[in-house]
Amino acid sequence: MLFKELNLSVPLQKALKDAGYEAATPIQEAAITLLLEGKDLLGCAQTGTGKTAAFALPIIEALAMKTGQGPKRPIKALVLAPTRELAIQIADSFKLYSKYLKLKTAVIFGGVSQNPQTAELGQGVDILVATPGRLLDLINQRFVRLGEVDHFVLDEADMMLDMGMIHDVRKVITHLPKVRQTMFFSATMPPEIAKLAESILVKPVKVEI
Ligand code: AMP
Repeated sequence: MLFKELNLSVPLQKALKDAGYEAATPIQEAAITLLLEGKDLLGCAQTGTGKTAAFALPIIEALAMKTGQGPKRPIKALVLAPTRELAIQIADSFKLYSKYLKLKTAVIFGGVSQNPQTAELGQGVDILVATPGRLLDLINQRFVRLGEVDHFVLDEADMMLDMGMIHDVRKVITHLPKVRQTMFFSATMPPEIAKLAESILVKPVKVEI
């Protein structure tokens, strides 16, 4: 399916054209329309399948219409990723696809000073991409509030389990509104991950690639 055939607004279509994307990948084709309708998603997909755009494009589309401006505006979308490299990559994708829109994407991760990250957060952020430990730190220090997040993505959940992050992930989730759209991605589904997925998704559509 071509991106032109999906119901995406002009600024997104233009950014995709600039990036050289013409046809949606299978996971994008399966997921984008459902996510635009606001459904929850359970995706079994590896990196390299185009899954980042599969969740980023519907989020950007949803936020394009209703974001506010200024430093006090709330974070509307949260993406959790297991590593700094992946978090940066995801944030770069959001920035690329939203380049013709007034949306601010920020990325935070551990192992570096928090000061530049808190300064950026203080200026107002619409989409936050984060690793779980640093995010929890900044929540506890009141630099981040998640009370108005509408879209939540958990990427590479099985890797988070392997890296011992699931406790932090569960803690972060307690700070999210109960009513929200949740997108859950994992390459494999060990029992603990299946249990977590079941506990945070509402009537999810399942997509396996
Ligand atoms: P991901 O699986 O999200 O890490 O994406 C893998 C790579 O494919 C990234 O470099 C994307 O920029 C690229 N990509 C994603 N979707 C498309 C598409 N529909 N057409 C061309 N390239 C794409």
